[in-house]
This record gives sequence, C-alpha cells and structure tokens, in this order.
Amino acid sequence: MARNVVQFQKGLSEPVFEQQYGTEEQCRAIVIASRWPHGFECPICGGRQYCVVTTRNLYQCAKCRRQTSPIAGTIFASTHLPLRLWFRAIYHLTQTKQGISSIELGRRLGVTQTTAWKIKHKLKQVMLERDATKRLTGRVEIDDAYLGGERSGGKRGRGAPGKTPFVAAVETTTEGKPVRLKLRRVTSFCASSIVGFAKRSLDPNCSVVSDGLQCFTSVADAGCAHQVVKTGSGPKAARTPAFKWVNTALGNIKAAITGTYRAINSKHVPRYLAEFEYRFNRRYDLAAMIPRLTWAAVRTIPMPYRLLKLAEVNWCAWQ
Ligand SMILES: [Zn+2]
Repeated sequence: MARNVVQFQKGLSEPVFEQQYGTEEQCRAIVIASRWPHGFECPICGGRQYCVVTTRNLYQCAKCRRQTSPIAGTIFASTHLPLRLWFRAIYHLTQTKQGISSIELGRRLGVTQTTAWKIKHKLKQVMLERDATKRLTGRVEIDDAYLGGERSGGKRGRGAPGKTPFVAAVETTTEGKPVRLKLRRVTSFCASSIVGFAKRSLDPNCSVVSDGLQCFTSVADAGCAHQVVKTGSGPKAARTPAFKWVNTALGNIKAAITGTYRAINSKHVPRYLAEFEYRFNRRYDLAAMIPRLTWAAVRTIPMPYRLLKLAEVNWCAWQ
C-alpha cells in the first residue's frame, strides 16, 4: 500500500532544528530577516540607513535617530524569555499532530506552566488571526460538533450542558480530496449563527453539503448553494461518503484534544480550534510551518496576558 505523503513526510528533525535554531544569535537573525525581509526599515520615517546599538541590541535610524528593537510590537516582545525558547515552543506546537499541553511544554522548555501557557496561547492567537479572514471555496462538507462537557453520566449529543458548539467545514476538490479546514465556535446551531459563519468563512460560490440539520439551510442566505444528504443515525452516519473528510477531521480533533488536554475552558476553545486548523491547512510542508509562523508572529500585535485570559475575547474587537 502506498504510504500517506502527509503522515510520512520527513518534517524537521530535532537535530536539524538545533542546528538552525539552537542559539540566541541564530533566532535573532531569523526574527530580523522575517521582520525586515528587504533590510531594515524605520517604523517612524521609513528610512533604510541604520547603525546597531550593540550594547542594547537596538537599530538606530540614521535619518530620524529613532531606536527600534527588532522584536518591539511583535509577540516576542511580550515576555522576557530568550528567543530560542520561543522557537522551541514553535517547534513543539507545529511539528506534533496532537499539540502539546502547557505542563509538558513547560517541562521541555524549563519554564513554569503559567509561562508555557502564555507562550502557547500567544502563538495560537497568531495562528487564529492568520487564518481568520481566509474563506473556503468550491465543494464544502459541513457538520455540527461539540467539545467538552460531561464525560459520562450526563446528557449526550446535541445541546448537552457544558458543551461548546462549533462548526467544522472541509473544502474538497471536485474529486472529493480534502483541501482546507475551517473550525469556528458558534453560540448555538441556529439560523443566524450559520449565516454569520457562512458570510465570514465561505466564499458565496461555495457548494455546501450537509446532513438534515435545519440550520444549515441558512448557508443559502449567504449566497452559497446547498445540498442535503440524509445520513440516518449512529455509526452509519459517520460513514456517509459525502461527509468522509469532515468526519475524519472531527475524529482527529477529538482524539488530539482529549488525548492531550484534560479539559478545555470554553472561552479558549477558538484558539485550540485555530491551532488544529492551522496545522491541518499546512500539513503538506511541516518544516515550512516554523518560518511561516515566525513571519506571522512578527506581524501580529501582541495581546496582553490579561486579555488572553479573559473570557470571550473577540480578536476583531481587540484589533
Ligand atoms: Zn527613522
């Protein structure tokens, strides 16, 4: 049997990562190259001539004399951690399919769980903002899903207490091969939530396939074509070919999240979903995810810790 190209790709081994990102100087050079790919540019006057204040690691503009730190205004500025620890966190977050808990990340980096949590959620926030405005196109499989809630003994299925509802949508080729994934928390599975989701996340030319759940007919209000495929119930529903990829993605998400995290606070669910979505959408080139996330990280305004911890942070509102 042919090996799965995604699962068996080489990725970036730990020794090669160490060679490329092992020292503070290497990581600093990578951040500078990411931030100023065409050479230094003064954020105040746009000047390109500079000198380096070596004692403080600052760039001084030759024209307006303003001093700029290469990490100022990026997520790396928000802690006093060495950049090489940030890059190790990026490595663990992007190169593992299951994600990594903050306890485990803290242990690997040699920092407290709280510090590891901050680093991880800042990186997840970068992932969330990077993909927030991209829309799926073409054929899209869509389904309702839930995270958390009662593990046993409680009410099961749709609407059980404590569960966080989210929409899972997979764009496929016309031959049915998966392309991109979109995971979005919704307040509930009602018509207005689905219209809102479709307007933000789906191109109006999408052809959406769903089961018979009533709210999904509302994708038509966002201009999308809609087809209902009846699935029956129970395990048979999960094997319906029309929903092969959305069901596969949901199976992987649930295995990853329940395997890695004991519980997820509902208010942080969007960032956990964003992490999974980000990795899935870049799964063909694992190694490239490190420079790509770095590129996005130096262009993401850091969210203060108190906001990161707050419930219901809407990144659009924050920006
Ligand atoms: Zn200047």
